Amino acid sequence: MNDDSTHDHKPPYHVRVSDAKDRIYELRSLLSRANSAYYLGESQIMSDTEFDLLLKELEALEADHPQLHDPNSPTARVGGDPIPGFTTLPHAIPMLSIDNTYNEQEVRQWVERMHKGLGSSDAPSDDLFNATPSTTFTCEPKIDGVALSIRYEDGSFIRALTRGDGTQGDDVSHAIRTIRSVPLNLQSDDIPDEDIPAVLEVRGEVYIPLQEFIRINTEREEAGDDPFMNPRNACAGTIKNLDPKVAAARNLGFLAHGSGEISDPKFASGHAEFSSKIKRFGFDIGEHRTIESNADAIIGAIHRIDGIRHDLEYATDGVVIRVDSFEQQATLGFTSKSPRWCIAYKFPAERKTTRLLSVEHQVGKTGKITPRATLEPVNLAGTTVSHATLHNYGMIRTRDLHVGDTVEVEKAGEIIPQVIGVVLQDRPKDAERVLPPEHCPACDAPLEIEPLESRDDPTLETTRRCVNPECPAQVREKLVWFAGRKQMDIEGLGESTIDLIRGSEIPLNHFADIFNLHEHREQLVELDRMGEKKVENLIAGIEAAKSQGLARVLAGMGIRHIGTTTAKQLARRFKDIDDLRQAELWELMPTAVNTMSQAKREELTGSKGKLETTYETGLGADTAPVIFEYLHSDAARDAFDRLSACGVDLSSKDYQDAESIIDSPFAGKTIVITGTLERFGRTELSEQLESLGAKVTGSVSKSTDLLIAGEKAGSKLSKAQTLGIEVWDEAKLVQTLDSMKG
Ligand SMILES: [Zn+2]
Repeated sequence: MNDDSTHDHKPPYHVRVSDAKDRIYELRSLLSRANSAYYLGESQIMSDTEFDLLLKELEALEADHPQLHDPNSPTARVGGDPIPGFTTLPHAIPMLSIDNTYNEQEVRQWVERMHKGLGSSDAPSDDLFNATPSTTFTCEPKIDGVALSIRYEDGSFIRALTRGDGTQGDDVSHAIRTIRSVPLNLQSDDIPDEDIPAVLEVRGEVYIPLQEFIRINTEREEAGDDPFMNPRNACAGTIKNLDPKVAAARNLGFLAHGSGEISDPKFASGHAEFSSKIKRFGFDIGEHRTIESNADAIIGAIHRIDGIRHDLEYATDGVVIRVDSFEQQATLGFTSKSPRWCIAYKFPAERKTTRLLSVEHQVGKTGKITPRATLEPVNLAGTTVSHATLHNYGMIRTRDLHVGDTVEVEKAGEIIPQVIGVVLQDRPKDAERVLPPEHCPACDAPLEIEPLESRDDPTLETTRRCVNPECPAQVREKLVWFAGRKQMDIEGLGESTIDLIRGSEIPLNHFADIFNLHEHREQLVELDRMGEKKVENLIAGIEAAKSQGLARVLAGMGIRHIGTTTAKQLARRFKDIDDLRQAELWELMPTAVNTMSQAKREELTGSKGKLETTYETGLGADTAPVIFEYLHSDAARDAFDRLSACGVDLSSKDYQDAESIIDSPFAGKTIVITGTLERFGRTELSEQLESLGAKVTGSVSKSTDLLIAGEKAGSKLSKAQTLGIEVWDEAKLVQTLDSMKG
C-alpha cells in the first residue's frame, strides 16, 4: 500500500459500489488503513481532505443503515451519541500504583534491591564477560495524564477502563474510541493474525497536549465557561464527559506504557519487546524510552529526560524505571500496593509557600464571579507571582481557605500559577474564612448559583453569576473585550480609556455607544489625560474598526458559546448577519445533523439526503440551539440593528463558498508558519491560509502537513525535517498563492 500510490491521484476507491453495505465495509477498511498508516509514520495513502470527505460519506451511510452499526468503525473517531452514565467494571489484573521517590539515592538503593532479589549484579553495560545474570531496566518519561487499561479481544477494541480504585474502573470506551492514536482493530496487512493474542490489554496514559490545553482554556474563557486547572484535569474532565463528541473535539493523545492481561505468554519476553510489538499495532509508545543496565546509567537517563521534558508536547512529572524482563518481574512480585519491579523518580515540582493576603471576587463579561488570590510576591519558576487563580468556590471550600493562611502555590502545567494547598498548622488564630459572595461585588444584585452543567470537573461544584444585564462590571468587561486586539481591535480604546469615559457624563454602555463617541468630541478632549491628539487617534481607531467584518463583531460581543474560532467558522459559512439570522437551526450544526439517524434528520431538516458538509460551524447539538435562540431574541436584533445603524459592517469577509475551498491546495491542511517572512505578517498570512481552508497551528507535530519556513527558521524547521513534513520557503508560497489568483 506504500508503492507508487502517491503518484496516482485517482486511486481505485473512487469507484462507486452500488450496494451500501459493500460501500460501508470498503470505506471502513480504507479509512482504518489510512489512519494506521498515518500513525505508523508510513507514507500517507490519502490527503486529509479526502479522509474527511470519505469519513463523512461513511457517517451518512451508517446513519441510514443502523443495522450495520459497528462500535469500532472509523466513524467512532468523531464520537457517537452520548452515553447515559458510567458502568464500573473489574480489571482483569489490578492496576496498581507505582512507588514514588524524589531522591536519586533511593533510586540507587532500589536498583540494589532488584539485583539482590534476582541474584544479578550492577554490571557496567559494556562488560560482556560478566558471569552473573544480567538485569536490564527500561527508563521512560512519566507522563502526567489519566491512566487507562484498554482491552482487545481477537484484535478488536472491547473497552477502556479508568484506573478507578485499582480493582475496578469506569468504562470510558465512548471517549477513548475517538482518540486517533488508539487502534480500534489490531489487524493489518503486515501482521499475521496469529501474532495477535486472543486477549491483549494495553495500559497507558491519556493526555491533552499542552498546546491543545491552552487552546481549550482560551476558548472556554471566550465562551464564558470555566477554564480547566491543568492539562491532567482537563483530560479527566474530557473522558468523563458523557458526550463523546467532546473528546473527539479535543485532540487527545494516548501513550502506551504497560500491559495488563495477555492470553499468549509468548507474546513478549519483556517490556521493551512488548512496546515494540504494540507499536506495530499502531500505538504511540513515545520516543524517549531507553534501556539501561546499571544505576549510574539510570541516573544518567533521569538527567537526560529532565533536560528534554520541557520540549515535549505533554506534561511530565518524572521518570518510570522498571525491570524489563517479565520473568524477572514475576520473580520480584508485588507489595500490597505496588509492583516491586517498578519505581517512579519524580522531579521536584516548582512549588513555593507564601501568604494569602486577600481574595478578590472579579465579575467577568458574562457575569461569572471568579475568585482571585492576592499573594505576598514569591518567585516561582522564574517569574514573580503575586496573584493566583482559585478557579471556583468549590475549591475554596474543599481547601477551607482563610485569609492570612500560608498557601502552597504551583504553576499548573508550568503555565498558570494556582493555589494548591494550605499549610494548616501555620494558620494565624484570627484568620478569617474565605466565603463566597452572596451579592455581586459590583452591583449588589443577588447572584444566581448555577449547578454544574456537566461532570467535566468534580471540584467545580457551582458557578456564581450576576444576572443583572445592567451590571456595570459586566458592561465594562464586555466593552473591554469588544474593543480588544483579537476582537474589534480599536486602537486607543483600552481598559483605562474605557474607565475614564465611563466615569464621565459621556454615555458608554452599549457596543453601539462606541461608534457614537465622535459626537462627544469636545467632552472627550476635556477629559483628564486625553487632549486633542489622543481623541483624534481614538476617533480614527473607532472609524477603522467599523470595517472589521462579521467574524470579529461576533467574537467581540461575548456571546455564550461563540469564541474567536466559532465566530470565524460561522462567518465562513454565512454571507452577513442577515444570512446568519435567517439560517435554520440545522444549518448551524451540519456535522451533528449528519450523524443523526435518517428519521431524526428528516424531522429536523425535511430532507432525506445527507447535508453538504464541506463546512463546520463549531456548534453541536447542545450549543447550536442556544445560539439560535440568541440570534432570534429581541436583545440580539436590537444589538445588531444599532451597530448597523452606526455604520458597522456586518457582512462577512471570511465567507467562502464550499466549492472554492475544496479547490484550494491548502484545504484541510494543518500548517505551521515559522521564521521571518518578507512579504507577509504572521497574523495576516494565518488568516489568509485559514480563509483558504487551512488550519494554522503553533507547533510542529505528527499531524502537521506543511511548514512554511521564512528566514532564520529554527527548531520548528529541524523538527519538521526529522518528521519528514513538507517544507515550503516564501518563494514557493508566493508562487502558489499567485497561481490561485490566475
Ligand atoms: Zn453585578
